[in-house]
Amino acid sequence: MPQAIITLNAGSSSLKFALFSADGDDFNQIIAGKIEGIGTAPHLVAKDTGGKVLTEHRWRNGFNLTHEDFLRQLLDWIDDHLGGAELIGAGHRVVHGGAHFCQPARVTPSLMGALKALIPLAPLHQPHNLAAIEAVAAVRPHLAQVACFDTAFHHDQPAVATRLAIPRALSAEGVKRYGFHGISYEFIARRLKEINPVLAAGKVIVAHLGNGASLCAMQGGRSIDTTMGFTALDGLVMGTRCGSIDPGVLLYLLQHKGMTPEELSQLLYDQSGLVGVSGVSSDMRALLESPDPRAREAVELFTYRIAREAGALVSSLGGLDGLVFTAGIGENAVDIRRLVCERLAWLGISLEAEANARHAAIINAPDSRVVVSVISTDEERMIARHTIETLRTLV
Ligand code: AMP
Repeated sequence: MPQAIITLNAGSSSLKFALFSADGDDFNQIIAGKIEGIGTAPHLVAKDTGGKVLTEHRWRNGFNLTHEDFLRQLLDWIDDHLGGAELIGAGHRVVHGGAHFCQPARVTPSLMGALKALIPLAPLHQPHNLAAIEAVAAVRPHLAQVACFDTAFHHDQPAVATRLAIPRALSAEGVKRYGFHGISYEFIARRLKEINPVLAAGKVIVAHLGNGASLCAMQGGRSIDTTMGFTALDGLVMGTRCGSIDPGVLLYLLQHKGMTPEELSQLLYDQSGLVGVSGVSSDMRALLESPDPRAREAVELFTYRIAREAGALVSSLGGLDGLVFTAGIGENAVDIRRLVCERLAWLGISLEAEANARHAAIINAPDSRVVVSVISTDEERMIARHTIETLRTLV
C-alpha cells in the first residue's frame, strides 16, 4: 500500500501543511494548504498540485479555536483525501535543534523536553512548532512524528564561524551562532547538485529572502557560514526583525529608555526591519509599489545589507562561484535581485536583464564571473523526505 506523510509548519497565527505520497522511492506532493488567522478569523485553503482549490473554509467565531481543534479537523479531512494511501507520519518544521540535534529525530517525550528548553532561543517560532506536535499527539496518539530542525544544516560549520567573542563559560553553555533556514538551504543544496553539479561543488552563496531572510555560504554543498546567529534576529534586515545591530543599542534602550525585556523583544522581533524603517509595511511587494520615500529607504537598506553581508561571506568562502536567490522575495522580486547584483558588481557579477525579468533559472549575463541563479525552495518536500527516511530507518 502506498504511504503518505503530512508536513506541518506551525507559526503563531498560521499552520502550513502539505500531503505527500511515497511509494518506494517515488515521492509526490498531493495537497498543499494553509490555515491563516488562527486566534482571529481562521481561514483554511487547500489546493491540489495543479492549484485547484479542494476546500476553503472560514470558521465563524473561530477566534478561540486552538491548534488542536484545527488539527483534529484537518487530519479528518486528510483521511478522506489519501486516495488509498496510509498516513504513516507527520513531519514538523522545528526552528531550533540546539547544539545536539543535527539530524531529523523521531518525537519522543524526552525529545520534547529538550526542545522546550530551547524556547528562549527562538521565542517567535519554537513554542508554535512544539504546540503543533503536541496537538497531533493529542488527536492522533499513534501517528509517528518527526521533527526537522532549521539549525541542523549548519551543524558542521567550522568552530570559528559559530563562536561568539564572549567568555568561554557562556559559549560552553551553548551561547553560540547556530544559523537558521537550514531546511530551505538543504533543499537548495540538493537541487543545485541535480541541476548544476559543478557549481554545487564550488563556492556558493544562497540568499533566502522571505519574511525572514538570511544568507548561507556553502562550499561543496555544506554550510560553512551564515548570517543568522544565536537567534533568527541576526544578519539581514527582515520584514519585522532588525538583523545585525550594535549590542550597545540594546543596552541604551534598557538602561536609558527604560524598556522592559519584553518591550525590547517586541521591538526587535516585530516592530523593526522593513516595517520599522518604512513605517509602511513589512511586505516587500507593498514597499516596491509604495510611492512613500521611507519605503524606498527601507528597500535600499535591505539590499545594502544583503550586499554587505554577502561581501563578508565571500571572505569566509575565499571566493565566489555562484549566487542563488530563493524564497518569496528571492524568487519573485526582479528589482531586488537587480539591486543586490548591482551592489555586487565588484565581484564580477552582471545580470541578463531579460532573464532576470522572467525569473529564469540562470539570470547572469554571459560575461559574468559568477553564476547567478533563481531556485524555488520547497521546505515541505525536504521535511517530507526526512520524515519518510527517518521512519523507514527506524522500522
Ligand atoms: P516568504 O516568507 O518566503 O513567503 O516571502 C514573503 C515575502 O516575499 C513578502 O515580503 C512578499 O512581499 C515577498 N514577495 C512575494 N512575491 C513577491 C513579488 N512578486 N515581488 C516582490 N516581493 C514579493
